[in-house]
Amino acid sequence: MEDSDDFLRLILDSIAENIAVINERGDICFVNHSWSQFGSDNDCLVVQDWSKVNYLSVCDSAALAGDEFGALAGRGIKSVIDQKEAYFNLEYPCHSNNEQRWFIMRVSPFKLNEAHFFVISHQDVTERKLAEKAVEKLARRDGLTNIYNRRAFDEILSEQWQQCLTLKQPISLAVIDLDHFKLLNDTYGHQTGDDCLIAVSTLLKNFARRTGDVCARYGGEEFAVIWSYTTLLEALVLSKALLEEIRQLKIPNERSPIAPYMTASIGLVEMTPNRILETRDLIAQADDLLYQAKESGRNKVSSLIVVPSSAVENQN
Ligand code: GH3
Ligand code: MG
Ligand code: MG
Repeated sequence: MEDSDDFLRLILDSIAENIAVINERGDICFVNHSWSQFGSDNDCLVVQDWSKVNYLSVCDSAALAGDEFGALAGRGIKSVIDQKEAYFNLEYPCHSNNEQRWFIMRVSPFKLNEAHFFVISHQDVTERKLAEKAVEKLARRDGLTNIYNRRAFDEILSEQWQQCLTLKQPISLAVIDLDHFKLLNDTYGHQTGDDCLIAVSTLLKNFARRTGDVCARYGGEEFAVIWSYTTLLEALVLSKALLEEIRQLKIPNERSPIAPYMTASIGLVEMTPNRILETRDLIAQADDLLYQAKESGRNKVSSLIVVPSSAVENQN
């Protein structure tokens, strides 16, 4: 019994992975039950008789229809058939109408009576992928405020900078630092300080609602807002409104020499990205302006528009 073809088929049919075997031309010679089942469960892959299908043609048709993973799969399978690669793996999304799914395709060769065959398997890796995505998301969030952290901020700023460079659009960056926050902590305790940071980040989200807007906790009691495709004039209005809303929270900071409640200072800069400027120039400039806002009395915005040949300065 253990030697029979039926026995082997039952084993292959009991495996959850979708398995097919193709020959050197790409013709399908064998499919297991999961493979057929997956086909009939997915409207896009209704095939009555898989043995009449050439899998390389399936990949080519998908590629022609604009499916980049179809093209990659076809190329990968051919590279194993041509013995350029010993095996091939490809992770790809395969979302249905109501759920997100990811699969990994594996191609590995075997030889029988001088003929070459190739096992193609598709394994559902959705669970792992979703777990990875959840971890990725967590790694980009600040644990206290749940807005983006510094790491995510750096990545997003680079992306937005690139977009604005391509589209020749201005980008504005505000670095926001709470005034005399150490005094607030010392007076009311660290827990109260934490609550303030949460309250400020909740406000910030309302100032970063459009496409290309991002707010993040930059570190400690410092936050940042990226306003892409936004001039200094527009960003200044937003920055002043933000400072006003922070004041209006009326969070007590009675020992602050500025006001008996919490205030903040902002360094705000606008740049239009070019080949010479870099994101670190934008950050350094915003930091300098923040320093100026602190030095000149706090509870205010210091702003600057950087144009390629000159700079126009502004104190508010
Ligand atoms: P300035 O107006 O010059 O910015 O003064 P400051 O007191 O705000 O600045 P300083 O850098 O002296 O102090 C920052 C304080 O922020 C000290 C630090 O304990 C506090 N801080 C940083 N991160 C956190 C946090 O996660 N929670 C709380 N409660 N406090 C924090
Ligand atoms: Mg501060
Ligand atoms: Mg600070």
